[in-house]
Amino acid sequence: MANDATGAPPLHPETQLVHAGTLRSQFGETSEALFLTQGHVYDSAEQAEGRFLNTDPGFQYGRLSNPTVAMLEQRMAAFEGAEACRATATGMAAVTAAVMAPVRAGDHVVAARALFGSCRYVIEDHLPRYGVESTLVDGTDIAAWRAAIRPNTKLLFLESPANPTLEVIDIAAVAAIAKEAGVILVVDNVFATPLFQRPLELGADLVVYSATKHIDGQGRCLGGLILGSKALIEADIQTYLRQTGPAMSPFNGWVMLKSLETLPLRIRQQAQNATAVATWLKGRKDLPHVAFIGDPDHPQADIIARQMTGPSTLIAFEVTGGKDAAYRFLNRLRLIRISNNLGDAKSLIVHPATTTHQRFTAEVRASMGVGDGLVRLSIGLEHADDLIADLKQALDG
Ligand SMILES: *Cc1c(COP(=O)(O)O)cnc(C)c1O
Repeated sequence: MANDATGAPPLHPETQLVHAGTLRSQFGETSEALFLTQGHVYDSAEQAEGRFLNTDPGFQYGRLSNPTVAMLEQRMAAFEGAEACRATATGMAAVTAAVMAPVRAGDHVVAARALFGSCRYVIEDHLPRYGVESTLVDGTDIAAWRAAIRPNTKLLFLESPANPTLEVIDIAAVAAIAKEAGVILVVDNVFATPLFQRPLELGADLVVYSATKHIDGQGRCLGGLILGSKALIEADIQTYLRQTGPAMSPFNGWVMLKSLETLPLRIRQQAQNATAVATWLKGRKDLPHVAFIGDPDHPQADIIARQMTGPSTLIAFEVTGGKDAAYRFLNRLRLIRISNNLGDAKSLIVHPATTTHQRFTAEVRASMGVGDGLVRLSIGLEHADDLIADLKQALDG
């Protein structure tokens, strides 16, 4: 198979997302092929030996790699500006591998406390079972990161913007602390999207995605991605993935690969829709709090200007009257559907306090900024005017 990625001048992201990583079979197909195979046959016993010794480049077995998934990994690495990328079955498989593989019993991890629920579980409940202690800090407090570092700290983890509050962490500042301490910084970049924030350029060592979200973007397949230097990925992380087996299915890899071709178009349109909706929500007198990354009044607008080039596709806002009022509002929506998913072409809304953040106590939820009236809205590809009309009838109703 021939790899089309040419060595010519650096290509723009839009071009890379259509061409990078393409492998063509002997049939010269235009669209990337779906290699739905578990394994690969060898021409000879010697070749089989070579594949296992890594002296013969090629594929062996689906748990280790697959041609379709490899195209996705190479395309994503080119887009992200990373030396290496590995795909996983889900976003949580990517987060778990990125956090578990580099640490050993006796190590310590520091993370921002405003995290996606399952990420917080891995850090707070899962790691300690294997002798890895963790400290959760207010991620926006740079001094708190510094103070939490111990001699045995091995890894820092953060998500920015955070789910669901859209609180922003200064990635370059945390990366500087990581460098100084000689530890790895892992950034979950789902809410920002790879189009609007480039954590590796800000000093992060690893970036993780739930490809389930904007990368698929059409609500079909689960997937995850880990990106970073060859040294980091090809050491512990690759071994962890190969031996424990959270491989992405080739079918899902193919869906995601084709989705990357339209990612900039989709995200830019969703962000434009989100800007229109957020502006309209902010203009309403009955909503005490509207959080949107593109809002010039966002409390961390200066950090956003430094590290992001777009507003994300998410909005979080508070409905007056707590849970009952939030439920009445959600239940009156007709076009915007109630779902905990996000980054979809369909606009989706969720009440985090009773769903994604249900397992936390009221105090922990409050410390994460998740109040009883808070709703999180993921804006899709519908016409913004239709979304606003739906929100208006549901809020006025
Ligand atoms: C959805 C999500 C994950 C987990 O991804 P899955 O694909 O559902 O496993 C991790 N982090 C963030 C920020 C997410 O939104």
